[in-house]
Amino acid sequence: MSRLGTETAFDVLARANALAADGMDIINLGIGQPDFPTPDNIVEAAVQALRDGQHGYTAANGIPELREAVAEDIAKYRNVTVNPDHIIVVPGGKVTMAFAIEMFGEDGTEIMYPNPGFPIYESMIRYTGATPVPIPLIEENGFSFEAETVLSKITDKTKLIILNTPANPTGGVVPSAELEKLAKGLRNFPDVYVLSDEIYSRMTYDGEGHFSMLNFPELRERLIILDGWSKTYAMTGWRMGWGLWPEELVPHAQRLCVNFHSCVNAAAQFAGIEALKGDQGPVDMMMEAFDARRKLIHERLNTAPGVSCVMPKGAFYAFPNISGTGLTAKEMQDRLLSEKGVAVIAGTSFGAHGEGYVRFSYANSIENIERAMDRFDEFLKGL
Ligand code: PLP
Repeated sequence: MSRLGTETAFDVLARANALAADGMDIINLGIGQPDFPTPDNIVEAAVQALRDGQHGYTAANGIPELREAVAEDIAKYRNVTVNPDHIIVVPGGKVTMAFAIEMFGEDGTEIMYPNPGFPIYESMIRYTGATPVPIPLIEENGFSFEAETVLSKITDKTKLIILNTPANPTGGVVPSAELEKLAKGLRNFPDVYVLSDEIYSRMTYDGEGHFSMLNFPELRERLIILDGWSKTYAMTGWRMGWGLWPEELVPHAQRLCVNFHSCVNAAAQFAGIEALKGDQGPVDMMMEAFDARRKLIHERLNTAPGVSCVMPKGAFYAFPNISGTGLTAKEMQDRLLSEKGVAVIAGTSFGAHGEGYVRFSYANSIENIERAMDRFDEFLKGL
């Protein structure tokens, strides 16, 4: 248990709430969740399911209509036909991540993961006893990686490579050409599996769309795709995610479901069907709002003294370089919260390669972003 890490965002949220309870005016740009409510049609579908008596256990891998809806969604947005029986619905994207890392990690193995990256990758890798091998993300490349670097780090102990695009915490998107180079290179390593965390697949900007690892048929037998409802449909608290597994791993993932959680909340699964098959207007509306905030925060960060920020291309995070301010990432996180009431997350919470950066979540109103950036400017000028 001592090897298990955590997610600082939850600690910062707790501190911000405590300061708010003491009367401080807090602006939260820390937590990674949409500030919109779940769209009404989705809520109504859950209410209806409860009224219809959907109160019991379901199949461990998810109700068939839901898995079919996920397969249709994959066909629609990723243009690939998949077998609904290879989809396993779980309580949040994190569970697919935990299962995949659990399956491949053990003492003496290596798992590669993006750094800075979602903190649970490194935490879970260490938990299994495997050695975490960071894939450094490079600011100059829009926080992408270089395929050659990834391929050069593969050893005979490497079992799994974790990818995440669009990415938390950087907002970076890995160019399709780089993914293609990686997929080609992986032909030389047929025993290495890939976990592609595509939880932000619907959250891209400038009409760029999402490029999925599913585009490489040669990887299909050793590729796990992670996605879910949390971010796209503002459903973080519903705990709904899915994994697409290679046929060989499906029975193992199902057995993990039975052992850990039996099944996902039944009514939430009906809401999940409505989310995928119902009106997508609310998603477009959210993305339009995020886009306006993205442009605003990018501009404001680049005029802040000692700070520079590349334009985020996906998700709802900006990851400015703060090394010109003279503060460490952790100092910036702590002082900005305690002195100005603005919650952000130190880049180092996402791995050692996050030093010199902080994560601003722009899942907040334009007005609050403006206020937070005014306070940030004031804070920097006072240093
Ligand atoms: N993967 C990434 C990259 C994330 O940022 C998150 C949530 O912040 C998750 C997975 C987990 O999503 P869920 O809340 O559905 O478990």
